[in-house]
Amino acid sequence: MIHLILFGPPGSGKGTQAAKLVEHYGLTHISTGDLFRYEMENNTPLGIKAKAFMAEGQLVPDEITIGMLRNKVNSVKETRGFIFDGFPRTVAQAEALDHLLEERDEEITGLVALDVHEEEIVQRILLRGKTSGRPDDNDESIIRNRIEVYKSETTPVSDHYRRIGKSHTVQGIGSLDEIFQRLTGVIDSLID
Ligand code: AMP
Repeated sequence: MIHLILFGPPGSGKGTQAAKLVEHYGLTHISTGDLFRYEMENNTPLGIKAKAFMAEGQLVPDEITIGMLRNKVNSVKETRGFIFDGFPRTVAQAEALDHLLEERDEEITGLVALDVHEEEIVQRILLRGKTSGRPDDNDESIIRNRIEVYKSETTPVSDHYRRIGKSHTVQGIGSLDEIFQRLTGVIDSLID
């Protein structure tokens, strides 16, 4: 099994690259942001709980997020592995993920981070906001809040995997294809 964490700040291109990687490696894409948006659109109890946190650019509490992720992982019956996109976003989530995979006698193959500087991601998210219809993409103060949350809560996740030699970084600026080549360069070296 290949289990990859595609890591990086909001707006670093994780969703776009995950879609290409999923096709290339035959993996299953799990984006917790997409799962929350689906729940919200369908007005489920989970979506209703998540909505206020998402609107403010805050993280949805770990308990809710981990429960949703666990259900999703366990619902996939046949796969070569997962690409986790937007998860884990806290060390508690990373520990829960490690534990969940351990129960299946599996483990994270590697975390690959997209490195993009702050001003570039603010501009990218504002541009995406024009078409994404996402309220959290349309307000600069909320975008900056998401970046602050990323710095304080989420960057320790890459340290968590760095300690066990599983954290890698590629430059996230360039054309879609250039970035994809950089990612597959790292991933191929992990799965060979
Ligand atoms: P994203 O689409 O990954 O940018 O996520 C959009 C929003 O969904 C985030 O700003 C959070 O409010 C929420 N969210 C997504 N993934 C997580 C996660 N792993 N933990 C907590 N909140 C999350």
